Amino acid sequence: MPVKSVTVRVPAKVNLQLSVGPREADGFHNVVTVYQAISIFDDITVTFTEAKTGVSISVTGDQTHGVPTDENNLATKAIALLSKEYDLDIDVHVEIKKSIPVAGGMAGGSADAAAAIVAIDYLYSLGMSREEMSEIAAQLGSDVPFMLSGGTAIGTGHGEMLTAALSRGTYHWVFALSSVGLSTPAVYSECDRLRSESQIAEPQTNELLMQALLAADPKAVGAHLVNDLQAAACSLRPALRLVLDVGQEYGALGALVSGSGPTVAFLVADEEAGLDLAVALTSSGVVGSVARAYGPVAGAKVLA
Ligand code: ATP
Repeated sequence: MPVKSVTVRVPAKVNLQLSVGPREADGFHNVVTVYQAISIFDDITVTFTEAKTGVSISVTGDQTHGVPTDENNLATKAIALLSKEYDLDIDVHVEIKKSIPVAGGMAGGSADAAAAIVAIDYLYSLGMSREEMSEIAAQLGSDVPFMLSGGTAIGTGHGEMLTAALSRGTYHWVFALSSVGLSTPAVYSECDRLRSESQIAEPQTNELLMQALLAADPKAVGAHLVNDLQAAACSLRPALRLVLDVGQEYGALGALVSGSGPTVAFLVADEEAGLDLAVALTSSGVVGSVARAYGPVAGAKVLA
């Protein structure tokens, strides 16, 4: 009997480096980014429906606010694209069990799009290669190809052109979450505004960060975390500066705004240091909620 339902688990990401080039004529920016997939996951269950109902979506879990349940959901967009490319009528219900913060700079929507590709490939026995999945993913968003591969990777172009990064060891993180998200386009616009008087060079890979990852040296990784969008995120949400300061005061090895924010990521020495920092951040009163995680972890994959 054919499989009727599949669950795909997909991680969130943090950018260890996000270097942003000048604004191009098309309004986009070339970036050099180092992604790490971390252990906060969405679980996407895709089930065949008997009738010709198209795609329906429901969202459950800790992070449901602001997630569209119509054609604007990135999982629905992924399925619509597959349907077009593979000339398929797809009738499924998609349940997104969401733990990845929404509009938090952790690529939650992109993660769900990647999970939907893996799920439809499995359910409809498309036999897609990794390259074919990546090509579809890149049409959906710059972060989507990385959410398929996971691990640690360097992203160039708009972030969608991936090369594997040589990284050793496990890294422990504490994330300070905000209840209200930031819009990625708004943060890029603010970045352009703040840099309007400056000459911006094409972004380059941070070699010191790459050496630190190769050496499995969290202290050195912490010292070389870099995000060109941080000033813009802090300009739009000044309270983030205080959050960054508090975390560093309590012994984080490094701190940065994750992607376009407003999540703030703190790298810590080990699990115990993470627990201490999480308690300190919570009791400081400047942080709404915290999450602990480790990375790198694998990308979107079918749960056995
Ligand atoms: P990135 O780090 O890739 O810039 P983000 O983590 O800041 O993204 P998302 O969680 O992907 O942001 O959400 C951005 C917006 O995308 C949301 O405000 C929501 O309207 C929309 N969206 C569409 N599909 C989804 C989805 N499956 N999960 C979350 N948000 C989604």
